[in-house]
Amino acid sequence: MRMCYNVPAMWLQRLSLTNYRNYVRLELHLPPGLSIIQGQNAQGKSNLLEAIAYLATSRSPRTASDAELVNWLALEEPFPYARLAADLARGDHLDRVDITLLPANGNGGFRKQVRINGVPRRALDLVGLLLVVLFRPEDVDLIAGAPAGRRRYLDIALCQMDPVYCRALSEYNRALEQRNALLRSLQPGPEAAAQLRFWDEKLAETGGLIIARRQWLINALEKAAALHHLDLSGGYERLRLRYLPSFDPGRPPVRDAAPVVAETGVRYDDLTPERVGGVFLAWLHQNRSRDLAAGMTLLGPHRDDLGFYLGERPLRHFGSRGQQRTAALAAKLAELTIMTEATGTTPVLLLDDVMSELDADRRAMLLQVLTTVAQAIVTTTDWHPFSPAVLAQAHTWRVRSGQIEVVEPVGNVETLER
Ligand code: ATP
Ligand code: MG
Repeated sequence: MRMCYNVPAMWLQRLSLTNYRNYVRLELHLPPGLSIIQGQNAQGKSNLLEAIAYLATSRSPRTASDAELVNWLALEEPFPYARLAADLARGDHLDRVDITLLPANGNGGFRKQVRINGVPRRALDLVGLLLVVLFRPEDVDLIAGAPAGRRRYLDIALCQMDPVYCRALSEYNRALEQRNALLRSLQPGPEAAAQLRFWDEKLAETGGLIIARRQWLINALEKAAALHHLDLSGGYERLRLRYLPSFDPGRPPVRDAAPVVAETGVRYDDLTPERVGGVFLAWLHQNRSRDLAAGMTLLGPHRDDLGFYLGERPLRHFGSRGQQRTAALAAKLAELTIMTEATGTTPVLLLDDVMSELDADRRAMLLQVLTTVAQAIVTTTDWHPFSPAVLAQAHTWRVRSGQIEVVEPVGNVETLER
């Protein structure tokens, strides 16, 4: 097995939720190692893992609206709020993190208040305190779903490893909104050029960094994913990952030409943020009249995509569902490998009810991976995907209507299933 690292253990020691989704009040002490949480449908399995991912990234993997996270009954109260808190252990060191969602304006919005060890901080300061890799059944859609899902896959890994990337991404998104608003309100001409210049430069600077870092990550992921894929598929064909940007970041535009990127993507080993920023700026200038006509910015990392290929064939079009599932699992395991290498710490591995969808070989492989991380938290509707030997080593819990309790004895699967 390749994933054996000797790194300082990081784990989530305590999780406390108040008015978070269907958890009105939860106080959970978690051990390192493997925790398996069993529950019927709609009891709170996904909500629990979502809360942990939220503490790591200050974002929900499921929704962009924080208001959805606040318990419905709490929303009826005069001053609704939700709170997530965690104790994060790393070696002997302990950090206390909490996020409170508070009403932001009169129309149902929420803002977050972040504290680290009791001190108010920005959400960005959370980056890297808790690293997670979350694997959900929906992740099979990574390969054939919409490009936004693949951009999110790259962003979540990069953001957790690199606060500079995270800041660039949020600045880029803000600048993009401003530029698009201007594009909608301006008429083409010298005045438009002058007003757009400021935002062009802001986009080029932050976008250059985003593209250079994404290319770096894709190269790193490809190496790790190809190895995991060989293990998982037992096949001979190599899994390839290729960057599909909206313009070629390694070459300045040819005058008056439209941007063309081959379906096979690009691959560079030596992109720097400055160089890509220069190319991006040239494209923004060249494409200005098209942007004005469209009323939006047509090129940039917000239009990026990532292609998965078996040999030369794009898996998105030609892969069977099973092949896509295997590639998605390889991509997720690669995320774990790269985050471990880049940070020196194994992320907390969160698996949301994915075991039952895998065949016996892939399940065994994933169980093996679970033993290589300092902490894994796995949800399941049934105990049967786990062998008695695995259950004997694991900490086992049951979730029912937002309440979690330890279930014993772990060995007797029949008793547990009742
Ligand atoms: P499944 O096995 O079907 O995936 P699950 O255990 O993962 O189920 P969750 O997605 O965690 O279920 O949802 C648990 C329950 O929480 C659902 O009934 C859902 O409707 C409810 N829920 C979601 N958001 C809120 C909220 N803001 N307030 C209260 N309950 C909520
Ligand atoms: Mg679920």
